[in-house]
Amino acid sequence: MRGMRIKVSYIPIYLKCQRMFRLLAVGHEYEVDVGLLLHLAQKEWGLRYPRILKEFDGSETSELEKLLLKALAGVKHDISHIHSVFRDVEKEDFEQVFQNLEKRIPEISCNLVLVDARSIFPVQTDVFLSSKEISGVVDKIVIIDGSYAPSLIKTHHPPSIGVWKADRLQATAYAMLLEDEMDIRIEKAQIEYVSCGIARDFPVKTADRRNVINCLEDMKATLEQERDNRNEKMCGGCPLRKICKWDDY
Ligand code: SF4
Repeated sequence: MRGMRIKVSYIPIYLKCQRMFRLLAVGHEYEVDVGLLLHLAQKEWGLRYPRILKEFDGSETSELEKLLLKALAGVKHDISHIHSVFRDVEKEDFEQVFQNLEKRIPEISCNLVLVDARSIFPVQTDVFLSSKEISGVVDKIVIIDGSYAPSLIKTHHPPSIGVWKADRLQATAYAMLLEDEMDIRIEKAQIEYVSCGIARDFPVKTADRRNVINCLEDMKATLEQERDNRNEKMCGGCPLRKICKWDDY
């Protein structure tokens, strides 16, 4: 494991369960279930929100709902070309994914109508960033307050205020990589909670930069020493439970 580059996307996973991080880092993959399919389809849909807002004339929420439905039909049509995993899915599961997403339209439109399209409009998407020790693909680079900012798409719900710590640290790590790449200071980052149509930006703080560095050190030690802790609270819905040695299901 020595000399291995750590993926930025593993930061929130490490904070959730060290064992889950280690299993993924050594090459295991999530089991494909409806939860994973929902995540992938929701993310594709969320990536289309900027175009939806561009088309929306700002009048009626019902109009926004129609545009969301149209975009979802587009995702349904395209998804197997984007994620091959959808090619092998049972028809019933495929339909269930899109029925579940359609039910989210009223909540998404209520929130999305308040989002400034410029803040989620990407300057670039899927940008690969790397340093000697870490690497990752940031979903978007956007402009916030006139400056470049990394923006991450998340399919879980946000906290009542601000963003989750794990999301903040992951975005901070991308901000640090982007600073090296562009030779500029990144002041802000953003999380787009697409399952409810909310986008929240936040300052990239000194304390979080320090936390990222410490977290990466701990992650490296976890791999090098082949030791980890499990988080029992997460085991119930864990997509790695069948291969996890702690798992007695
Ligand atoms: S089953 Fe539990 S301990 Fe194992 S990886 Fe999943 S969450 Fe972690």
